[in-house]
Amino acid sequence: MTSSHHEESAPREPSIPMNDLRRMLESVGPEINAAVTDVIASGWWLNGPQTSAWQSELAAYLGVHHAMAVGNGTDALEFAIRAVCQDPNRQVVVNAANCGGYTTTAARRAGCIVRFADVDQQSHLMTLATVAPLLDDSVGAVVVTHLYGRAADVSEIVDHCHARGIAVIEDCAEAIGARTANGRRVGSIGDVAAFSFYPTKNLGALGDAGAVTTQSSAVAGRVRSLHQYGWAGKYEITRDGGRNSRTDEIQAAALRVKLPKLDAWNDVRRSIIAQYRQAAAPTIRVLPAEGPGHVGHLAVLTTNHRAELRAHLHSRGIGNDIHFPVPDHLQPAFRNEYGAASLPTTEYLSERILTIPAFPELRADEVQRICSALGSFEPSSTSNSDSTTSRQRI
Ligand SMILES: *Cc1c(COP(=O)(O)O)cnc(C)c1O
Repeated sequence: MTSSHHEESAPREPSIPMNDLRRMLESVGPEINAAVTDVIASGWWLNGPQTSAWQSELAAYLGVHHAMAVGNGTDALEFAIRAVCQDPNRQVVVNAANCGGYTTTAARRAGCIVRFADVDQQSHLMTLATVAPLLDDSVGAVVVTHLYGRAADVSEIVDHCHARGIAVIEDCAEAIGARTANGRRVGSIGDVAAFSFYPTKNLGALGDAGAVTTQSSAVAGRVRSLHQYGWAGKYEITRDGGRNSRTDEIQAAALRVKLPKLDAWNDVRRSIIAQYRQAAAPTIRVLPAEGPGHVGHLAVLTTNHRAELRAHLHSRGIGNDIHFPVPDHLQPAFRNEYGAASLPTTEYLSERILTIPAFPELRADEVQRICSALGSFEPSSTSNSDSTTSRQRI
């Protein structure tokens, strides 16, 4: 806000951030402070009663038998992959390349080979149609990411994969609380699932935290061992590839305060995105975030005029970002290895996506300003017929 120092410049409306976590404290701050103070006073800061209560409450909320609290979402993905890719002849992990690189990083850390599936142009998600051509006897697991908050159709991928001896992992980092068509929450359908409680996720900690969930006690046992040094019990290492990755008591206490409020926050996110959809000009497609199958983690739109739209939003002080600008197979660290992958839809969408603010504490006047900006957008570089064509394509 350097411009505010210049009295001669025109008064500008305050900018609207992508996120402002301090606003969340206006509702839950006192409760979180009390919970954290209690943890500190208790003198029990790791592996204590908060973590065990948090694991039970999370499992109950999701409808799973086992939830293991770990250090962060990327560790959760790595433990999930290690726990289901046990066959040395099946060390290939298949995932989508538009999900921010977390699964690719985790799979490589787990010693696996990565193979990329393209995504559906409407939903931006992996589907059975996009993943099926990638599957063969070398594949140990498919990771389905519920991207932007939208529940993917995991059940049909599970049926197809299980018939071929392949495990299915759900990446639920962006979709906690979303329900699939059969009414179950994401994270309860595949063989194992990973969650992140990074502060800006729909359910965020005060720092890093993650979880692995599963219905299988065998998978749960492997993850419990992997996240504490490969131990079977205290000081006895029975599993190679372990590490130390825990959720601490302070994070668990904060998450316990926030979990009961999650569904209401997710409702607000959906309703903000619905307003953007109503307001957007024809050259902008705001991805739908309707009903229990979507928790509105990110308000993502596509447009053929992204640079111009970003400038338009910027001039109105409206924060925006791209999730994610570089598909995994084109990342500088990996592109020598994967650059030849053919992912036309992933690449097409990566040049057209844009994320606008959708955090639940946005004020009504801010949502209104964003709606007006979306509605008043007119790209200079296209005719009406171009925009009709682009609308059909995006
Ligand atoms: C945030 C995120 C992760 C990783 O979570 P961290 O806790 O930051 O490691 C994994 N997958 C997706 C889709 C994410 O959005």
